[in-house]
Amino acid sequence: MQFLYFSLNDFEGPVPPEFGNLANLRDLSLTSNARMSGALPLELTNLTQLETIVAHDTGICAPSDTAFLSWLDRIPAARIARCEGEQGMAYLTQATQSLEYPVPLVANEEALLRVFVTAARSNDEDIPPVRATFYRDGTQWLVVDIAGKPGPIPTVSDERKLGSSANAWISGDYVVPGLEMVIDVDPEGMLDPALGVQRRIPATGRMEVDVETTSVFDLTVIPFLWTESSDSSILDITNALAANSDLLFETRTLLPVADFDVTVHSPVLSSSNNVYDLLSETAAIRAMEGASGHYMGTMTTPVTGGARGVAERPGRVSFSIPVGWIMAHELGHNMSLRHPWENPSYPSYPDGFTGAWGYDFRDGGRLVPPWKNDIMLGCCWISDFHFTQALRFRQSEGAGRSDRSGHRLSQSTSLLLWGGIDSDSVPFLEPTFVVDAPATLPNSTGDNRLTGHSDTGTELFSLSFDMPEIADGDGRSSFAFILPAREAWEKTLATVTLTGPGGSVTLDGDSELSMAILRDPLTGQVRGFLRDPPTATQAAADAQVTGAHGLEVLFSRGIPDADAWRR
Ligand SMILES: [Zn+2]
Repeated sequence: MQFLYFSLNDFEGPVPPEFGNLANLRDLSLTSNARMSGALPLELTNLTQLETIVAHDTGICAPSDTAFLSWLDRIPAARIARCEGEQGMAYLTQATQSLEYPVPLVANEEALLRVFVTAARSNDEDIPPVRATFYRDGTQWLVVDIAGKPGPIPTVSDERKLGSSANAWISGDYVVPGLEMVIDVDPEGMLDPALGVQRRIPATGRMEVDVETTSVFDLTVIPFLWTESSDSSILDITNALAANSDLLFETRTLLPVADFDVTVHSPVLSSSNNVYDLLSETAAIRAMEGASGHYMGTMTTPVTGGARGVAERPGRVSFSIPVGWIMAHELGHNMSLRHPWENPSYPSYPDGFTGAWGYDFRDGGRLVPPWKNDIMLGCCWISDFHFTQALRFRQSEGAGRSDRSGHRLSQSTSLLLWGGIDSDSVPFLEPTFVVDAPATLPNSTGDNRLTGHSDTGTELFSLSFDMPEIADGDGRSSFAFILPAREAWEKTLATVTLTGPGGSVTLDGDSELSMAILRDPLTGQVRGFLRDPPTATQAAADAQVTGAHGLEVLFSRGIPDADAWRR
């Protein structure tokens, strides 16, 4: 059993400890069972495959057992209230936060402190001064005094108005792992004790603030120029692009991104303006350039194919028209996020509201209400659920991958093998090229297979892989691998075949699938994909029309010919 959706079932009582025996469980959804309650059983920590656990709109909570909470922190998609704690009284928020379902903070990004001072009875008192003392590694580090302000003091924590909490901006310099805080309310003791205002949060000890470091978010943006159009306005957009550009506001704010490296690729000429072709080409460029970061292709409209953005989920390749929220949406897919309407575990499934109060630091700061659309539905904010899931995903990815940045991997004569499946799952192959590039091979096996054969039928290579999931692709998918070649293949490689659940396709010397790839021999950057060019010479000439001089032209009719091997 891998999936248990118990949502909206009117179950009651606690979760039975026997659930801990469902060793293969990946998704446990208990939402909207108002009569379910109690602490989750510690036996659940046996569920090591769990990817989703949600229990909003229930009375179920997470026990404050250290081992249980660290198990819960490793689950990418989790939304479980804490059984006890001081979360209801003060928090730090960045893009989004929730009294009930605490959202981790991203290190080194500024945060807003909100202290929810409450009184035991209704009153006309002003909200008293508040002193927040922050500790790092047990040592006092920062003291922030927040002046009192007009009341009344609310009787319950009220997130809906900034005026009902004591607030202070905390510089990103102080938002670091190991942060703890103590809040002293009314430090001078001016309030009537009969109001029942809690003077210290937490009552004893210090409140841990969950601050998480993330690896550098390395994004390369590729401006595509369509050969059929003279529109080069995308270059005006990308030439000005930097990590702090308005166009990347949603990416750097709504996604768990702190250190943000943005590289703008040289323009790439493409004879297609179809978003799926452009996604494929982006994947091929990333593979040919041996990159480890995220690659996003972009082109000004008109693009065809029916989507304005498309992305591997999860993955590192995407395409988006240059619209900020669409770019963030596609990068959200790269960080494993799905559409709310496709995910029964999503808090406001299928409506896609954020469901939590956000905060926008622009223009002096303002609250963002929970009925805004989540970025994975449309414009323009992020839910507590998705922010946490993307952060957990980035952390697991950082832990699982070796850091290849900064190292130029050894290049050797290789084959660019690329293709995919169409929306009916029918496989297709793009022409195979001989390239000098570092290897990019599948990192898991699966039910698709690429094979190369000689004309006598001898198998030269065989790669098994899973077709990546492409979000917004209507069932389509694409891949690009770089396979180091053996010398003998120059004379022997006669066919390349892709076989998958939806059928099989073979390229051979008669495929008539001409394509030229333009590459800058100095930088190694890919500069063009020209489908069906009259001749290689013509392709080179076309490229020079755009001012791209001195480009190397790689040419293939499906299977590389002798010239291609001898370059
Ligand atoms: Zn999408």
